[in-house]
Amino acid sequence: MFTPFAKPHSATRGFSNLLAITLLAWSSLSCAENIAVQAGWLFDSERGRLQHQRTVHIVDGRVESVERGFTRRSGERVIDLRAFTVLPGLMDMHTHLAFEYGPRTYTETFTWNPADYTLRAVNTAERTLMAGFTTVRDLGDRANVTISLRNAINRGEIVGPRVYTAGKSIATTGGHADPTNGYRQDLMGSPGPAEGVINGTASAREAVRQRYKDGADLIKITATGGVLSVAKSGQNPQFMQDELEAIVATAKDYGFTVAVHAHGKEGMERAIRAGVDSVEHGTYMDAETMALMLEHGTWYVPTLMAGDWVTQKATVEGFFPDMVRTKAATIGPLIQDTFQRAHKKGVKIAFGTDTGVSRHGDNAKEFSLMVRGGMSPADAIRAATLNAAQLLKMEDELGSIAPGKWADMIGVVGNPLEDITALERVRFVMKGGEVFKQPE
Ligand SMILES: [Zn+2]
Repeated sequence: MFTPFAKPHSATRGFSNLLAITLLAWSSLSCAENIAVQAGWLFDSERGRLQHQRTVHIVDGRVESVERGFTRRSGERVIDLRAFTVLPGLMDMHTHLAFEYGPRTYTETFTWNPADYTLRAVNTAERTLMAGFTTVRDLGDRANVTISLRNAINRGEIVGPRVYTAGKSIATTGGHADPTNGYRQDLMGSPGPAEGVINGTASAREAVRQRYKDGADLIKITATGGVLSVAKSGQNPQFMQDELEAIVATAKDYGFTVAVHAHGKEGMERAIRAGVDSVEHGTYMDAETMALMLEHGTWYVPTLMAGDWVTQKATVEGFFPDMVRTKAATIGPLIQDTFQRAHKKGVKIAFGTDTGVSRHGDNAKEFSLMVRGGMSPADAIRAATLNAAQLLKMEDELGSIAPGKWADMIGVVGNPLEDITALERVRFVMKGGEVFKQPE
């Protein structure tokens, strides 16, 4: 994706000087270079197993072939990861790069400018990539800052993962993601489709088309109440069937997938029937909902970390506004069980954390929660690679280390199939054949 000539910009990317100089030195050697990554162990996504001693040959940022043993072709630069386990770059299908929840979150709304959110996102994007996440979906920002962020990353000006962003989420008046919830009445105004608030089918279409114009990659809607908004219900349905159908039909015209925030059963089922691509959180889904998801091929993105995080913070006096605290204490603890049941039923699961609620860079902690919920480590890794790529409809380019796909890879010490927390200590990161982190 990036020409090696873009690398001299590395000096301004916020690395330590030493690392920047190292990258600069490489860049002078690496113009149009071919690379051989020699891996002690390589994760085979199709079979969910580790393969011993493999070499990945990379040409122009893409995997050209994977060979048995440690091989080297003339002219190739060798990256020695013989002491490491190499896996496809991790993919988090639910992040918010412009947000990082804290005690000041609700006042930021009034004191922060779009530039403040942008600068935070530059920082969170770098932390995300360094944690081994080479691709993310951003499911809701402010002032479309993650659209500009994505573009700056793609131009090679800043360091971050591949970003597929929804821009501003779409809600209904007073719904989860109405940006003026909880405001004093004279400040509330009446935000419309451009700001992500719709009522009725015409404004639903307008909101989707606005996101196309803004440069979003997909659509995010909030089909039910949510935990962190200053509003009473965390689970009531907030879109009518015809509004959901208008969103999905318009999204299809523009090649958008639709991701749906949902806790309550009714709002979730309306969205599934309308043909959305993924249900996020999904807290109150039951056997009926799961059957409907299987019938429609709907993905489930569990965000166990968010449930865990709000549960913990609800015990801290004064951390949340009262209205939020009650919802956090009720809804937070349920998601782990929902995940366990959905996994057993065979609902398609893609990895997602809702990071921005919890801290950016901690994304890999989701794996332990998934394994605790009964998923095998291999399947948890596949949820964060192969499955995520399918949800993005990018499975020809991303999600495994296979010929023709982008060379997005990470390296860890040890065997993540035995100890999934190995993924919390990523030592090597490559995106599109470019090395961003390497073992000291
Ligand atoms: Zn979210």
